[in-house]
Amino acid sequence: MKCLKCDKTLKATKKDKSHNSKNGLVYDRAIYTCKNCDVWVTTEVPVKKIVKKIIKK
Ligand SMILES: [Zn+2]
Repeated sequence: MKCLKCDKTLKATKKDKSHNSKNGLVYDRAIYTCKNCDVWVTTEVPVKKIVKKIIKK
Protein backbone atom coordinates (compact mmCIF):
# COMPACT_ATOMS: atom_id res chain seq x y z
CA MET A 1 0.00 0.00 0.00
CA LYS A 2 1.44 3.35 -1.05
CA CYS A 3 0.50 6.92 -0.38
CA LEU A 4 -1.57 8.41 -3.20
CA LYS A 5 0.30 11.71 -2.99
CA CYS A 6 3.94 11.15 -2.07
CA ASP A 7 4.20 7.49 -3.09
CA LYS A 8 5.77 6.49 0.20
CA THR A 9 4.93 3.13 1.66
CA LEU A 10 2.08 3.49 4.09
CA LYS A 11 2.05 1.90 7.49
CA ALA A 12 -0.96 0.18 8.91
CA THR A 13 -1.68 2.27 11.96
CA LYS A 14 -4.82 0.51 13.02
CA LYS A 15 -6.19 -2.94 12.55
CA ASP A 16 -9.51 -4.26 13.66
CA LYS A 17 -12.47 -6.28 12.51
CA SER A 18 -15.68 -5.11 10.96
CA HIS A 19 -18.90 -6.99 10.48
CA ASN A 20 -21.30 -6.68 7.57
CA SER A 21 -24.77 -7.52 8.79
CA LYS A 22 -26.08 -7.79 5.23
CA ASN A 23 -24.00 -10.77 4.19
CA GLY A 24 -22.85 -11.94 7.60
CA LEU A 25 -19.19 -11.71 6.67
CA VAL A 26 -16.41 -10.50 8.91
CA TYR A 27 -13.76 -8.27 7.45
CA ASP A 28 -10.19 -7.62 8.47
CA ARG A 29 -9.99 -3.84 8.43
CA ALA A 30 -6.72 -1.98 8.27
CA ILE A 31 -6.15 1.76 8.15
CA TYR A 32 -3.01 2.96 6.42
CA THR A 33 -2.00 6.55 6.98
CA CYS A 34 0.57 9.04 5.71
CA LYS A 35 1.07 11.72 8.32
CA ASN A 36 2.92 14.01 5.93
CA CYS A 37 0.07 14.24 3.45
CA ASP A 38 -2.87 13.65 5.77
CA VAL A 39 -3.88 10.78 3.52
CA TRP A 40 -5.41 7.58 4.73
CA VAL A 41 -6.60 4.42 3.07
CA THR A 42 -8.88 1.85 4.60
CA THR A 43 -8.86 -1.72 3.41
CA GLU A 44 -11.45 -4.29 4.28
CA VAL A 45 -10.70 -7.86 3.36
CA PRO A 46 -13.26 -10.58 4.02
CA VAL A 47 -12.07 -13.35 6.27
CA LYS A 48 -13.34 -16.87 6.28
CA LYS A 49 -16.54 -17.45 8.11
CA ILE A 50 -15.99 -18.42 11.68
CA VAL A 51 -17.09 -21.98 12.09
CA LYS A 52 -18.61 -22.61 15.44
CA LYS A 53 -16.95 -25.48 17.17
CA ILE A 54 -19.23 -28.28 18.13
CA ILE A 55 -18.24 -29.63 21.47
CA LYS A 56 -19.19 -33.24 21.88
CA LYS A 57 -20.14 -34.33 25.34
ZN1 LIG B 1 2.16 10.85 1.61
